[in-house]
Amino acid sequence: MTAAGIFAASMQKFRSLSSIQAALRVGTVNCRSLVEHYLQQTEQYSHLNAYVEVWAEEALDRADRLDAKFREHPGAMGPLFGAVLSLKDNICYAGHEVTAASKILEGFVSIYSATAVERVLAADAILIGRSNCDQFGMGSSNENSVYGPVRNALDPERVPGGSSGGGAVSVQTDTCLLALGSDTGGSVRQPAAFCGIWGFKPTYGRISRHGLIAYGSSFDQIGMMGHNPADMAALLRVMEGPDGFDSTAALTQPPAGTIPHPASIACFSETIGHRGLEAGIRDVTLDFMERLRAAGHTVDEIPFDPGGGDLLDYVIPAYYVLSTAEASSNLARYDGIRYGYRSPRARNLEETYLFSRTEGFSEEVKRRILLGTFVLSSGYYDAYYNKAQQVRAILRRRMLEVFNSYDLILMPASPTAPWRFGEKSDDPVAMYLSDIYTVLANLAGIPALAIPAGNHPENGLPVGVQLMAAPGMDENLLAFGGGL
Ligand code: GLN
Repeated sequence: MTAAGIFAASMQKFRSLSSIQAALRVGTVNCRSLVEHYLQQTEQYSHLNAYVEVWAEEALDRADRLDAKFREHPGAMGPLFGAVLSLKDNICYAGHEVTAASKILEGFVSIYSATAVERVLAADAILIGRSNCDQFGMGSSNENSVYGPVRNALDPERVPGGSSGGGAVSVQTDTCLLALGSDTGGSVRQPAAFCGIWGFKPTYGRISRHGLIAYGSSFDQIGMMGHNPADMAALLRVMEGPDGFDSTAALTQPPAGTIPHPASIACFSETIGHRGLEAGIRDVTLDFMERLRAAGHTVDEIPFDPGGGDLLDYVIPAYYVLSTAEASSNLARYDGIRYGYRSPRARNLEETYLFSRTEGFSEEVKRRILLGTFVLSSGYYDAYYNKAQQVRAILRRRMLEVFNSYDLILMPASPTAPWRFGEKSDDPVAMYLSDIYTVLANLAGIPALAIPAGNHPENGLPVGVQLMAAPGMDENLLAFGGGL
């Protein structure tokens, strides 16, 4: 074997939790050597700006403690023993700074940990650092961060996707095994697709949102990125379930039965025939469809709008009306008094609010607060907010109805390949339209898995597709993905 071959083989062993745990058990690696490897990777790829902060000393200390625990009680190790994770900068970890990549939360140290964080730590995972993201999870390119953009390792002139772009690159560059992110409208799945890895958004309410900095509370869900669905399933099992701190977190029991083999899969003709879909992405998606058929599954093209109308065109407007409405309310708490940044120019209470918010929020966040405030204002509430709620109900009903006849729904993850920096940043609407395929799962609250499906025929960049399942079918969906 050549030196490069040996290196590739040694890297391979860090690509799944089961192989890491097997190596830990026979002693070819220990937690310290794993963490040292990942820290080396963070240095090698620091120019991509995936991390806002690397917790090097802390991760090494924790590795030593876990190694000692394993020597003394090898049978007592938690299910995430050997899993090194990055944490998106909008998930709270006690004693650590968390800023949602914003200036307004500059210097804010969380006094408690998110429920998800407590659970992964209790399961013996190691947290290696805080990953960069779009401010408050608002964006699709990770260009909207107070720490500067994150670069895609496959082409550093292109975006990694967003808002969890740092998390996606942290996995892509092997600086950790798994990334914890959040997905309000695709922020885990789209960056996963852009970086050639797997991404998973669970059913709404599957994982507690306690300690996740709120963006759109009826959409937000903690999600994850990794090299394979089995690792993500292990992580999900640890984090999921009811939580006294979040009344929407409930373990939705999977509907009776599992996803059979062969499965019946629906693909909406409007999604595959959409005018905004790049031909190269359509080709990879059609190819993927053929692979599913070759594996024995049935894949039918069906209309999304059974009435032959343009229901799909309402997906983006409904999402952006409702998510900005919720954001405007959630972000009202950043007033310069309770958290983070306070403008030094302010001389009285009103100026404290005014200047702190003006200086602390980015353009994009302000645009959304204004839009959300507008759609909630008394004169426009019925015309926009209420209307969008009605549209959401119709969209959700349609998605759930499809699951009466099909096990899964297939669609692309993004209409385009990762774009170059600046290409869409002056045109917020173009940026919003790139979320066309991801926001449906959040509007409907269903689980969705982004799968690396191949390379773009023109530029060789990674292309992702998505499989969605009925609410509560999370583990089944991941198991199905693992069998592909
Ligand atoms: N790109 C979408 C938005 O900007 C989704 C973001 C997310 O999932 N947090 O709202």
